[in-house]
Amino acid sequence: MPDPEQPALTGRVVASTGSWYHVETPEGRVQARMRGRFRQGDFGTTNPVAVGDIVELTLGDDGTGAIERILPRTTQLSRRAAGRRVGIEAVIAANVSRAWCVQSVALPGLNPGLVDRFLVTAARDEIPAGVIVNKVDLLDDLDADDEPVRAAGWFVDLYGSLGYPVVEVSARDGRGLDRLRELLRDEVSVVSGPSGVGKSSLLNALAPELSLRTGAVSTSTGKGKHTTTNAALYPLSFGGYLVDTPGIREFGVTGLEPHDLGHYFAEFVPLLPDCRFPTCTHDHEPDCAVKAAVEAGDVSHSRYLSYLSILEGLRAGDRDVGR
Ligand code: GDP
Ligand code: ZN
Repeated sequence: MPDPEQPALTGRVVASTGSWYHVETPEGRVQARMRGRFRQGDFGTTNPVAVGDIVELTLGDDGTGAIERILPRTTQLSRRAAGRRVGIEAVIAANVSRAWCVQSVALPGLNPGLVDRFLVTAARDEIPAGVIVNKVDLLDDLDADDEPVRAAGWFVDLYGSLGYPVVEVSARDGRGLDRLRELLRDEVSVVSGPSGVGKSSLLNALAPELSLRTGAVSTSTGKGKHTTTNAALYPLSFGGYLVDTPGIREFGVTGLEPHDLGHYFAEFVPLLPDCRFPTCTHDHEPDCAVKAAVEAGDVSHSRYLSYLSILEGLRAGDRDVGR
């Protein structure tokens, strides 16, 4: 018999609505509240519990739960809270194991600058990332040397050569979806992308059972983007969860020192010891191994331009907070 003094259940927080949390437990879904002693404000974040958290809870007589303990997180997907006050972050989701950036080969077309920002942010949060290239059906009637076909080939080669999984799919005709399902299976995955790339179509094609619930969430929260700051976790029928969060679309690169940015560009990392200055920012310094590699064609120009653009943003952010 279980000891009645011990927390009765361990479960995963899959949604939150104000002060209530929906926790998926081996005994089904439980509505739970935090114990008073870890209320908002006790932590450096705007909310101590995030979706994805594994919690221990006790059950009350009315069947609702009290969250007694949050188990240590493997990862946390976070974002600077409005106002960019250093050190204050909103945790979007905890224990995310994969972050996918969705792009489309056309309508709107590939956006490597955005992908690079996404990859840096995921690396900052120590979450393994990947890239999904949707709408490959739009290339079927084109010739091999047509621009969208060449751009797609270049893009897939570039991110593949950097070590990221790149999955080419069509939400329309189902191509590549089996491979994607394998990559999502038993993981807690965030799927993000600019609007129009087919993210909703893709999620509906992957897991048709989610479509109603995804719709229901945006309806019940009313105004969409601004009110839907709480992420939710959707169980996949084949195992694992998808994190649904509109907020992730806007996530920019923050919380990094300019001279640390190079550490989040995978192909720069082996070069960094060869820069003359340990705090090299790889733009104006002499004897920079990264610039030399760009000139030699060993580092992609596109990646370097993304790097410079993010660097500029980090420096501008620093000025905003008066440093
Ligand atoms: P979201 O804004 O990323 O959620 O994109 P949607 O899922 O709403 O799709 C945007 C548009 O792209 C819609 O008109 C879809 O029908 C279309 N679309 C989505 N996936 C595909 C695809 O694989 N191939 C083609 N040709 N069109 C697609
Ligand atoms: Zn350098």
